[in-house]
Amino acid sequence: MALICGHDAPAYGLPLCEHIRTATAERVDHYIHYTGRGAETQRICGLCRNEAATAVTAAVCEDCFDEREGDGLGVFGHPEVVDASRPVPGAVENLPLPDDAGRVLDIAPIEQGFLLLCDDGRILRWDPEPGTCTKVARSTVVVPAGAQPWCGRAKALRLHASRDGAFAAVVIDHGQTGEVIDLSTGLVTIPLDNGGYHSYTVPFSLAFAEHAGRTVVLHRADWRVIEVADAATGAPVTRIPMVEAHTPWAGCFHGALHLSPEGTRIASDAWWWQPTGMVMAWDVPRWLADGESSWPQDIGLARLPFCEGYWNRPVVWLDENRLVLGGLGDDELEIVPGARVFDLRDRQEDDPMRPTEVATFGGPEGRFFAAHGLLFSLSEAGLVIWDPATGARLGTLDGFRPTHHDTVRGELLEFSATGLRRWRTAHATA
Ligand SMILES: [Zn+2]
Ligand SMILES: [Zn+2]
Repeated sequence: MALICGHDAPAYGLPLCEHIRTATAERVDHYIHYTGRGAETQRICGLCRNEAATAVTAAVCEDCFDEREGDGLGVFGHPEVVDASRPVPGAVENLPLPDDAGRVLDIAPIEQGFLLLCDDGRILRWDPEPGTCTKVARSTVVVPAGAQPWCGRAKALRLHASRDGAFAAVVIDHGQTGEVIDLSTGLVTIPLDNGGYHSYTVPFSLAFAEHAGRTVVLHRADWRVIEVADAATGAPVTRIPMVEAHTPWAGCFHGALHLSPEGTRIASDAWWWQPTGMVMAWDVPRWLADGESSWPQDIGLARLPFCEGYWNRPVVWLDENRLVLGGLGDDELEIVPGARVFDLRDRQEDDPMRPTEVATFGGPEGRFFAAHGLLFSLSEAGLVIWDPATGARLGTLDGFRPTHHDTVRGELLEFSATGLRRWRTAHATA
C-alpha cells in the first residue's frame, strides 16, 4: 500500500507533520516532538509546536524524508514516564574515612575493603570492619599544573583496582598518563601513556579483568587502540588490531571502558569524527585467548546507534548480554533523559553489528548503575530505581546520590569529602 507521499515503499524515519511533508519551495526546520505515548516521537514544524497535541503526522518514504530534511530546532514535549513508585526500604549508612587518610581523591572497592587514593599520592588499603588502614604504595601521577577543563571535563586523578586488591591503577581522566602498581611491592609494573591525541575528550580508558588465572589490565595505549597486558609483569596479551583500512572500529577514539559483571563483554564509550559518539562492545575471553585475529567477527563486535556530539554518556551492563545507554535521541542537542536497552545476543538482519533494542523509555538520567536486574539512575532528588523491562519507575531514595558501585559487598556508595555513605542494592528487590 502506498504511503501518504504516494510512493509504494517502506516508511522511513520519524512521521512528519503535514507542513513539513507538503513544503515545496524550501525545507522546513523541525522540532522533535515527544508525544507522551511511551517514547514515541515525530517531527513537527514551528506552527504545529503551538498545537502539538493535535498535530497530524504521517510517515513517508526514505527519499521524501531526506528531501524534506531541514535543521533541528530542539525537543518539545517529554517521553512518558510510567510511575509505579513504592517506598524504598533500607537505611543509608555513614562510614567516616580513616583520620590519617587526609584528603581522599578517589576510592576503589576491593575484596578486603577499599583502596583510597590520597591527595599526597599515598594509596591506602582500608578495611573498615576491623578498622585497619595500611599504606601500600605511593603514586607519582599528578595532574599537570594549569590544566584547563574542556567542555566541562576537568583532568582529575582516578583510582582503579583489581577485585582482589592486588593491583591498582592511577590515571588522569581526560589526560594522558597513569600507572599500574603491584600493591605487594608498591612498584609500578606498567607506566601508562595514551599518546595524548585528543585524550582531553574522554576518561582514561582502563579496566582490570581476569584471564587464564592472571589479572590483566585493559588500557588505551593509543587513541584508537586498547591494549591488554599482564598486570604483574606488563607482558602484552593482545590488543585491538591497528589497521589502516576503513573498518568498523579503526577510527574510534576509545573512552570509558565498561566491563560486564562477569567480565565476558566490554563496552567502550567511543567517538569518531565528526565528532559522533558510538558505543562499541565486544567479547573479552575469546579476544584474550585468540588475539587480534579474532576481530571483528569472532568476538561479536557490536556497534550501538550513533549520536552526534554525544559520548561520556551513562552506560551500564544489566547482565552479560544486556547493555543500557543513557539518553534518548541521536544528536547531543536533542538528548532527553531516558534509557535504551540492547541485547547483544540478538542482531539486526541487515546489520549484524547492530544489536536489537529491546526496551526504550524516558526518565533515567545522571550516572547509571545496575544490580539484581534493576536499573539505578540519579535525579536531583536522589537515587531512582527502574524496571528496565517495562521502563517503570519503582521508587526514589531521596538525598542519596551514589558515585561508586561496590560489587563485592553489593552496595552503592556515595563518596564525598566528608566520607562514604552506603546502601545495599538488595533493598531494591524487597
Ligand atoms: Zn507543521
Ligand atoms: Zn515518498
